[in-house]
Amino acid sequence: MFEKILIANRGEIALRIQRACREMGIKTVVVHSEADREAKYVKLADESVCIGPAPSNLSYLSMPAIISAAEVTDAQAIHPGYGFLSENADFAERVEQSGFVFIGPRAESIRMMGDKVSAKHAMIKAGVPCVPGSEGALPDDPKAIVQIARKVGYPVIIKAAGGGGGRGMRVVHTEAALLNAVTMTKAEAGAAFGNPEVYMEKFLENPRHVEIQILADEHKNAIWLGERDCSMQRRHQKVIEEAPAPGIPRKIIEKIGNRCAEACRKLGYRGAGTFEFLYENEEFYFIEMNTRVQVEHPVTEMITGVDIVQEQIRIAFGEKLRYRQADIELKGHSIECRINAEDPFKFTPSPGRIVSWHAPGGPGIRVDSHAYAGYFVPPNYDSMIGKVISYGATREQAIKRMQIALSEMVVEGIQTNIPLHRELMIDARFIEGGTNIHYLEQKLADKPDLPKDAKAGKK
Ligand code: ADP
Repeated sequence: MFEKILIANRGEIALRIQRACREMGIKTVVVHSEADREAKYVKLADESVCIGPAPSNLSYLSMPAIISAAEVTDAQAIHPGYGFLSENADFAERVEQSGFVFIGPRAESIRMMGDKVSAKHAMIKAGVPCVPGSEGALPDDPKAIVQIARKVGYPVIIKAAGGGGGRGMRVVHTEAALLNAVTMTKAEAGAAFGNPEVYMEKFLENPRHVEIQILADEHKNAIWLGERDCSMQRRHQKVIEEAPAPGIPRKIIEKIGNRCAEACRKLGYRGAGTFEFLYENEEFYFIEMNTRVQVEHPVTEMITGVDIVQEQIRIAFGEKLRYRQADIELKGHSIECRINAEDPFKFTPSPGRIVSWHAPGGPGIRVDSHAYAGYFVPPNYDSMIGKVISYGATREQAIKRMQIALSEMVVEGIQTNIPLHRELMIDARFIEGGTNIHYLEQKLADKPDLPKDAKAGKK
């Protein structure tokens, strides 16, 4: 096994990877920016290297700085976590060319899945169902574009091939608005992603977001670890995730899960990965594949007992998967609430010093967070400061435990979205299960100021 791994990330996932390494007896190197110098997880690592100032492009996105840090510390492998360079094929390539192991898929897989047009093409070939739409990128000819949209049927959505993070998309309801929308999305995509290519999909009106977790080794073994329902979203950002997805017939999920594992074998995919789908009227439609560990991976760990980060490391070392599909049994139910440093209903970021921090606990509660009393939440990065994960024998129990956990949790000094989570955990439609991707935004639009005492940390 590796003796030393460098963690090229920050925050809760840097700590999560560190814990996996420690359990496996692997030494860790954490790289950090000047803004994260004082973070406790940095001190917990065996070694740490400051790789630059606070702005990500000068630190967490600096490939030479990270590779130099691996060189001076004699690390053998680099774990990229999520976000930052985790889905950057050039980085994966440079890591390997510099003589280190990249803990993730081969660069060519990352590249293929990073371009949504080529990803969709690969999925269609591998037998994974996709949202109906244009075959590949849209042509330049306006008449041809109009024809494609007529065939797909309105409403349609124009999406950037290089898009990500919920950006680079436009919904079109009428032919009159079509060509302008294509031109605008192309211009934005060119500026934001350096690739003006766009494609068209049928816009599904009320889907749920359901994704399949997979693990694949380089010996052509691949398994799927159940699904996650991530429909509770705001601006295409996930807020709550759970596993399993409530109310979807197991037969339908098993069929799609097996297809995903089969696609991994066909594509020669290696590592952990997530196939993201929209689910509507008992049909799954592939939208994209994430070639890394996801923020929401703990809910899968809770119901399968598989440590996804440890498996990533074993796979990268070249080991054969330790599980066969028949070993994967889904037990109980798990829910994750993403805790963000932000105004809970205006959603503006709320960085600053946490003066008081009380994390919940008890049976079935897991808290993945790097925060503590005295921790300064830097304004430079994503606002997520941790995740509360509950587990129960049933969904009801997982909800109940989450309600209790959120009522115990205290964060003072900054604002957090805990009040929003408390509200959602007692929301009748959420409790019923199966809300679609628009539910949260509709709820917020109907009652924009709930609850009245939405101050951070207050019960
Ligand atoms: P990104 O990489 O930016 O996250 P995705 O392709 O995963 O982009 O889409 C993000 C979100 O956009 C989805 O979770 C869904 O809410 C919405 N979306 C994407 N494609 C469609 C579609 N064809 N119909 C309806 N909603 C869509």
